[in-house]
Amino acid sequence: MDDRDVVIIGAGHNGLVCAAYLLEAGYKVLLLEARSRPGGAATTEEALPKTAPGFQFDLCAIDHEAIHLSPVVRELELTKYGLEYLACDPVLFCPQPDGTHFLAWRSLERTYREIARYSDRDARKYVEFIEYWQHLNNALAPIFNASPMAILDIAKNYDRGNWQDLWQIFGSRPKILDFLHNLITSPADLLNEWFDSETVKAPLACLAAQIGAPPSQRGIAMGAMRMAMRHDPGLFRPRGGTGALIAALVKRVEEKGGKILTGQRVERILVNDEGRASGVRVANGKEYRANLGVISNIDARRLFLDLCDRVDVDCAAPKLRHKLERRTNNNSSVLKIDLALSEAPEFIARDRHEEALMGSILIADSTHHVEKAHAFCSFGEIPEDPILYAVCPTILDPGLAPKDKHTLWLECFVPYQIARHEGIGFNGSGWTAELKEEVCDRVLAKLATYAPNILRSAIARRSESPPELEGRLGLSRGSPHHIDMTLDRMVFFRPLPELADYKTPIDGLFLTGAGTHPGGGISGMPGRNCARAFVQNQQPFLEKLTDVQNSLVSFLRSTLGIDNPPPT
Ligand SMILES: Cc1cc2nc3c(=O)[nH]c(=O)nc-3n(C[C@H](O)[C@H](O)[C@H](O)COP(=O)(O)OP(=O)(O)OC[C@H]3O[C@@H](n4cnc5c(N)ncnc54)[C@H](O)[C@@H]3O)c2cc1C
Repeated sequence: MDDRDVVIIGAGHNGLVCAAYLLEAGYKVLLLEARSRPGGAATTEEALPKTAPGFQFDLCAIDHEAIHLSPVVRELELTKYGLEYLACDPVLFCPQPDGTHFLAWRSLERTYREIARYSDRDARKYVEFIEYWQHLNNALAPIFNASPMAILDIAKNYDRGNWQDLWQIFGSRPKILDFLHNLITSPADLLNEWFDSETVKAPLACLAAQIGAPPSQRGIAMGAMRMAMRHDPGLFRPRGGTGALIAALVKRVEEKGGKILTGQRVERILVNDEGRASGVRVANGKEYRANLGVISNIDARRLFLDLCDRVDVDCAAPKLRHKLERRTNNNSSVLKIDLALSEAPEFIARDRHEEALMGSILIADSTHHVEKAHAFCSFGEIPEDPILYAVCPTILDPGLAPKDKHTLWLECFVPYQIARHEGIGFNGSGWTAELKEEVCDRVLAKLATYAPNILRSAIARRSESPPELEGRLGLSRGSPHHIDMTLDRMVFFRPLPELADYKTPIDGLFLTGAGTHPGGGISGMPGRNCARAFVQNQQPFLEKLTDVQNSLVSFLRSTLGIDNPPPT
């Protein structure tokens, strides 16, 4: 019998965060990663060594927001392990076809002045809008940092500031109704209620729709949080690329005695005679046993439908397979493009100043433009006039490319399954290598209407279609968030009510990752919350009581405004 307590399937950033907390709690942990390197959708790679040597690309995640609403970086002391966050300022640039632009700085005051150039009213409303969503972010952050079922853990996370923010949002009946309205309305309706100018509405609609649905869809207006987060806590990127976060986590995990094995694709969850997850089998047939449990960093659908034996699942929860089979992601995914450039992009809208390119760049001409691009995806069509999320990371961090050269990170919303092309190309999705290059050309032509030097400055490019992302990383239907982030799949419903507390009906089998609460993106929260759920699950009754008592004391201290003593 191997002497390890936990096996974690997948070394994405959530698997690594989870491992780091479990090691801290004294457990022996092994991570098994299918790829040849850890990180999942959070790696930085020299992906074009022949055509663009020395250029480092963030193959997926680049902008880090949500991790700064969690205590992960501080608690795991990641700066001690080499992680350094660089702040973007400005945080967002959205050039318009008529030469105007939206430019948001981290400072609300400075952003107010930018908007006031074209609409005094919208500038005032913008400040009010962002302040509302900042209160909401702070009121909800304690919920993100705990299992949605762990009432005491949630209460413990509230400090005086969070209570004040909660009061701002829920302090009266009209405020509660306002919140409910914001929860169920659509981004398009919400933005129309607040703003006049498309120059403000288009980028906000585009950010909200990043959830992967058109801005007219009700129930996704909470996407407005994403703009508020750019002002506070801000928009950050690790020096050296997203992979620097992974490097710090790997160092921490290995220093604390954790083991990471790459090139180990898990194919089967082993369940013993008592119905308990006791280990895993990888592609070459080798088995890894775990004394206490198995944790999955891959989504619930793949875990229960592909990796578990049908009988084991049916014995534990007869309806689970059926539910997972029926709940698929929508058809919206992303085409990811990386460019090596001989010079920085020159946007007409900002007189070719590089400064505006520090944060992210959105190509979204109007709410209608965003709507149409997403609606095309729903119908399985490739948008004729794409909307884009772009980043020129080398403006903030020149070390990512050879001297005076640049990289460009591009994401375009496209369907996973192309209509009338079923059974063709990668995974039968209709995507072929030729089609992908054709769409990349269309995307770059669109971008060139705003930054004409893009085409002549491209040294090399790589791209990944949705099914290729699915194949490389195991993302179901190429979903960047493992599971859609619409309201019906959040908090208690993520990924399903019976799996929402990181435990599963199979004893000893746990779930973490983007497909669990609070969702996708670089946050580390699912990993941290899952580790806590695992540890609590191991505790004998007396320890659980002490834990409850500590939580109560902590909750009362925070409510009364008494500072908690630093952890020993
Ligand atoms: C193109 C793209 C751009 C994005 N941009 C951003 C961004 O700018 N900002 C942001 O915050 N988020 C972004 N995201 C989302 C973010 O990257 C993910 O939500 C996040 O990285 C998920 O982390 P995770 O650890 O939960 O899962 P993953 O990163 O998906 O990790 C899962 C791991 O499991 C491994 N694995 C899969 N199957 C097996 C198996 N059978 N056996 C063993 N290992 C297995 C995978 O190889 C992977 O390493 C983006 C995602 C994509 C796809």
